[in-house]
Parts: sequence; structure tokens; C-alpha cells
Amino acid sequence: MITFGCQMNQHDSEMIGGLLEDAGYILTEHLEAADVILFNTCCVREHAEQRLYGRVSQLKALKAKKPELIVGVGGCVAQKEKAALTKRFSHVDLVFGTNALGGIADLLRRVENGERPVVSTPDVCASPEHRPPITLGRARISAWVSVMRGCDNYCSYCVVPYVRGPQRSRRPDEVVAEVRALAEGGVVEVTLLGQNVNSYGRDLHVDASFARLLEQLDAVVGITRIRFTTSHPKDISTDLMRAIRDLPKVCEHVHLPVQAGSTRILELMNRGYSSEEYLRIVERLRDLIPHISLTTDIIVGFPGETEEDFEQTRLMLEKVRFDGAYIFKYSSRSGTAAGSLDNRVDKSTIAARHRALLEFQKEVSLERLKSLLNTTQSVLAESHDAKRHGFLVGRTRGHRVARFCGGQEDIGREIEIRVCRLDGWTLVGEAAQHSSGQEPQG
Ligand code: SAH
Ligand code: SF4
Repeated sequence: MITFGCQMNQHDSEMIGGLLEDAGYILTEHLEAADVILFNTCCVREHAEQRLYGRVSQLKALKAKKPELIVGVGGCVAQKEKAALTKRFSHVDLVFGTNALGGIADLLRRVENGERPVVSTPDVCASPEHRPPITLGRARISAWVSVMRGCDNYCSYCVVPYVRGPQRSRRPDEVVAEVRALAEGGVVEVTLLGQNVNSYGRDLHVDASFARLLEQLDAVVGITRIRFTTSHPKDISTDLMRAIRDLPKVCEHVHLPVQAGSTRILELMNRGYSSEEYLRIVERLRDLIPHISLTTDIIVGFPGETEEDFEQTRLMLEKVRFDGAYIFKYSSRSGTAAGSLDNRVDKSTIAARHRALLEFQKEVSLERLKSLLNTTQSVLAESHDAKRHGFLVGRTRGHRVARFCGGQEDIGREIEIRVCRLDGWTLVGEAAQHSSGQEPQG
């Protein structure tokens, strides 16, 4: 399995892998050893799509040497391009869209039985949620849980609603049952995934909201941490803010993509909030939860973005002082509302604005990180540090990477650490409970 794109895609790949393991396949890390190579793909920006095409092209030689090899392309690009993929790449045997993931084993059987190419890109999902194996067989402490699929927001630049369909929330009882099963298998941290978790439940016929779901999950025995992504500013509720503040397992980190700082551009993007409204949300969040960690996404170079609009985005970063930001260059996607706009910002201007924002935010992110020096942080010990014997790595509740002394028995536990110094972007600390008074040297 080769995966491109977001956490949702990575999670889908886990599910595809699980379904195929159930059907008797074995995952391999080695391309040459594989009898089946499946791509799970992303088309949110052109760059990801071009990288995929490069990788698929490269397999032509392997396929020529090994004609029985099966090559499949699935997920978002498959949903968008459909049979055109098999015309463009004659060595692709299988195309499976975002709604066909649950049927992957049957599709592969058809290919194995000689039907080539097989193309399955239905507009709606046959099985509402294909939740197979939770890969409980593998020891793990952290897991993704999809709470909803699709998106109804139609931000003017975004291809997601077209390739992943309308919003479909999973029933709360189903999500709770899955999280219970994960906890029974040893998982202590879950990350809830959805394109806009803040509108969770609106499409259901039961009374459900994301804040209420968090409350139900907070009660699951064995789970110690709950994270979620992504939050849309237009749908963030006071109930949700209070849930983050009051529920002990819910981590104080919100990824709240702002996309731009100019209200004019936000309107053109169809985001549903103004720059001032966004700032007010941040203020309310920080009033309620002063130590909250805030991260965001930014797009530079949306069609028609002027120097003044761009300056507003820079000002947004300056005013909010996010803990981190993903800054993307606008990528025109055909089929979207903005895709047909012809007042494009030229490439060199986009590159310069992108560079300027990256530099600016890097300083801010570093300062925010430094503010954690000499504080006590609760870190979930996730694994051994591959490079330093006797050290563990994990994340703070605010999603910062931290390193500290510890042993196997600590993995999966929340450890209180005192942050002594930074090593690049990593917080280095010592466990508060077995503090020796010395600064760790690792
Ligand atoms: N549903 C999530 C994110 C979806 S895509 C949300 O709304 O926050 C992840 C990020 O990719 C977006 O937040 C946006 O910043 C970026 N993105 C989406 N379409 C893009 C495009 N056409 N060009 C550049 N960046 C894009
Ligand atoms: Fe795309 Fe907007 Fe939906 Fe996010 S909310 S997936 S950016 S359309």
C-alpha cells in the first residue's frame, strides 16, 4: 500500500490493509516482493496528483518484468479520474473510488480472475461505514477513528466535496462501540477524524452533536486522551469549547484552519466567516482555555489576492500567534468554483508570499514552543527514541513532541515532565516523578 495525503487517507489505508489481511493477503514493505501494489491517493493540490502519476509511471518497468503484478489506484484521484486512469496508464489493472474501499477484496478477486481493468467508482457508498479490523493484532496505543465522511461546505477552492461526497456522520453508538473495542485492545489515545467535526451529527436523525459525542467518549474506560481534527470555524460552538475545557481526556488543541486573513478573500473562498469573526472565536477559546494550543491552515495566492489581502493574512498570523500553521500555495482544481477564475496570481508572487509567511510563522512557532520551557507538561509516552537509548518520545496535550528518560514500562502512560530545553522542535524534559535534579543529556 502506498498512501498519499491526509490522516483520513492514512486511516483508510489501514482499513484497506485490514480488509486485505482478512482476505488472506500479507502486507509487505518491499515493492519488488509485492504481487499487488495499491495506491491510496490525494488530489487536494495538483502537486500530490503529479507525484502520484510519477510513481504510477515508474511501475511500468516492474510490470513489464512481472506481468502478473496487479497495480491499483484508489481513493480521491480514482474517484475524480475514473476510467480515464486506465487509458492514461495501460498498466493499471484496478481503479477503486472513495466509495469502493469496502469492496476492495472482491474487486481484487475480479482482477485476479482475469478481468482487467476493473473500474469501480460509485457515486454513493454501498456500505455506510466499512469498519473492519481495528488492527488490534498490532500493539498500539494510539488510533484514528473516522466519525464522519465527506463534506457539504464547498469552499470554492476545494475538491473534497466532489471526491468524497456529502457529509455522512456515523451514529454515536457506533463510534462509542468502536472506541470501546480499541480501548479493550490496549489503545489509550484516539484521534477523531472528519473534514469538519464541528458539524458532526447534523445529518443524522438522532440528537447528536460533536460536543455530546466527546462527552460520551470521555466516559470510555481505558482511553486517556481524545484528539480530533478538523474544526471549521463557522461551526465551532460554545458547547464544544466548554467540552474541551471540562472533559479531562479531551486534549486542549484545536486545528482551526483560517485559510486567509482578508474578509474579501474569505468571502470568495465561501468560508462563512469574516476575519473579525475568526479573531473573536480565538479570543473566546483563549478566554475559556488559556493554555489551548491552536494550529491552522493557510492558502496563499487565491485568485485575485492583492498585496493588501496578503498583508491581512500576515497580520492574522501576527495577531493570533498560532502554535503552528500549514501554509499552502493555492492550487487550481478543475471542477471547483475557483477553478474557473482567470485572475490568477502569478507563480513567482505566490512563491514569494509563501516563503515570507513560512519565515514569519517559523519565528512565531518557535516562540510559542519556547514559552513551554520550565513548565510541567503531561506527555503520553508513545515509543522509544530510535536514536537515544533510555529515552522515550511522546506528545504533550497541546500536540508538541517531547523527549524524556523512561523505560518500556512507561509506554502508553501519561508522564508529567519538566521541560528543560529544546532540541530543534522537540521539547526535552525530565520525568517529574523520578526527577534526579539533573538535566537530561540526551
Ligand atoms: N476539511 C479540512 C481540510 C481539508 S484539505 C478543513 O476544511 O479544514 C486540507 C487543507 O488543504 C485545507 O485546509 C486547505 O488549507 C488546503 N487546500 C484545500 N484545497 C486547496 C487548494 N485548491 N489549493 C491549496 N490548498 C488547498
Ligand atoms: Fe474542503 Fe472546505 Fe470541506 Fe474543508 S470544509 S474539506 S476545505 S470544502
